[in-house]
Amino acid sequence: MFQFTNIPAYQKALSTGEVTCVQAVRYYLDRIKERVNINAYAHVFGEEAISRAEELDAKRNEGKPVGKLHGIVISIKDVFSYAGHPLTASSKMLSGFEALFNATAVQRILDEDAIIIGSCNCDEFAMGSTGERSIYGNVKNPVNLSKVAGGSSSGSAAAVAADLCMISLGSDTGGSVRQPADFCGVVGYKPSYGRVSRYGVLAYASSFDTVGIIAKNITDIEPVLDVISGPDGLDSTARTDALFTREDPAREEDFKWAVLRKALSHPSLDGEIRDSIVNLVEQLRGEGVNFEEEDIGLMDYLTSIYYVISSAEVTSNMARYDSIRYGYRTTKPIENLEDLYKISRSEGFSREVKKRILLGNYLLSEGNYDTYLVQAQKIRQKLIDEVNGLFTRHDFLILPTTLSTAYDLGSAQKGDTSRYTADIFTVIANLTGHPAISLPLFRHSNGMPFSLQIIAAKDNEINLLKAAENLMNRFHRL
Ligand code: GLN
Repeated sequence: MFQFTNIPAYQKALSTGEVTCVQAVRYYLDRIKERVNINAYAHVFGEEAISRAEELDAKRNEGKPVGKLHGIVISIKDVFSYAGHPLTASSKMLSGFEALFNATAVQRILDEDAIIIGSCNCDEFAMGSTGERSIYGNVKNPVNLSKVAGGSSSGSAAAVAADLCMISLGSDTGGSVRQPADFCGVVGYKPSYGRVSRYGVLAYASSFDTVGIIAKNITDIEPVLDVISGPDGLDSTARTDALFTREDPAREEDFKWAVLRKALSHPSLDGEIRDSIVNLVEQLRGEGVNFEEEDIGLMDYLTSIYYVISSAEVTSNMARYDSIRYGYRTTKPIENLEDLYKISRSEGFSREVKKRILLGNYLLSEGNYDTYLVQAQKIRQKLIDEVNGLFTRHDFLILPTTLSTAYDLGSAQKGDTSRYTADIFTVIANLTGHPAISLPLFRHSNGMPFSLQIIAAKDNEINLLKAAENLMNRFHRL
């Protein structure tokens, strides 16, 4: 039976003829059917994936040069434009809409011979952290079907964890790649802001949105990052510097680490999560690893400023869904243009999206703009300076990814803001733009996985992956 371990091993097996792309695709299509109850996919491109696999097998057998992601079976969150395929952000507002062009990340993986097997279910317009806000229904956690998969890249994390694809591309605005990866027990990587072009990815909050990678292991992150990253004339925020390895330190043993004390003493942090991370730090210290304690003074403001700035950006980004040129349009009789906008938008967006649009409008209005938004921007800049300061003394910062393991499905209470405040550890790297990774090292006594998060400086992504790989090799106990 087909079994995927990592990209290099699979590609070797392809080259020796032990396995074919068609076998791999058929395996995943069978698994998707078997585990349909997880609801990881919004759309599966089955026949198309098989024909693409046949073409790739033929290309390889003819001895033609193959791409870097030759035969890799990838799923994409339902926010990536893939020409001629549904693109709905799991929202009624876009139901029936098809992408007209390819997102840069999608084009780049296709150019390197990847096979896109389907688009993944997610929280509507990537707003959420449980996978319970989608027109396609809830995503279930493959580890325990009574739990949420996290979000908003819920289907992506569930698909990788349940072995329904090799890799998934997600988007991370405030933690949406790392948090579902944590809840489902897989690796979630959010590169530096701008490392991967956002062109063709439906916008949520543009100064935070980052394309991220969900995989079973660290080995597979770098080849995918290498393909999708790089400058792009279609996104002026795409970074132009190369993905390089810093010269220093020459030896991995000399990396300097800092653990964020305030994160570990957070009153809502699960005790087992805290103890596991403290024990890991103690063990590494005992082996001579340089581990210091540091703090982010602005910790208490993080989720507030994240939700203030992101909601203002949502208001502006959602304005394009006017139901005129594309998207949902009400079937109710309408009297004038304003009613057409109002009724269509009221029916097309769900409660959560509308809540954020309203909040954003409030924040952008005269008087409130200076009181909230300008203040939040100032605090964001202070945070960036503070974290950059930490990176003059340390290579990596560590903290948990989340406050708890996956919640029970349906457990959120109306009016409860704890799902927002639970984003506290992931929003740091989105507010500052630093790269961060969630490593599924631990298992809780309740049976659910949980992770360690590492944040690095913007030009230190390759070292971050190296350090992460070492930790995975040593401490992965799932
Ligand atoms: N949970 C956060 C939010 O709802 C993060 C979402 C994301 O990263 N897309 O905004």
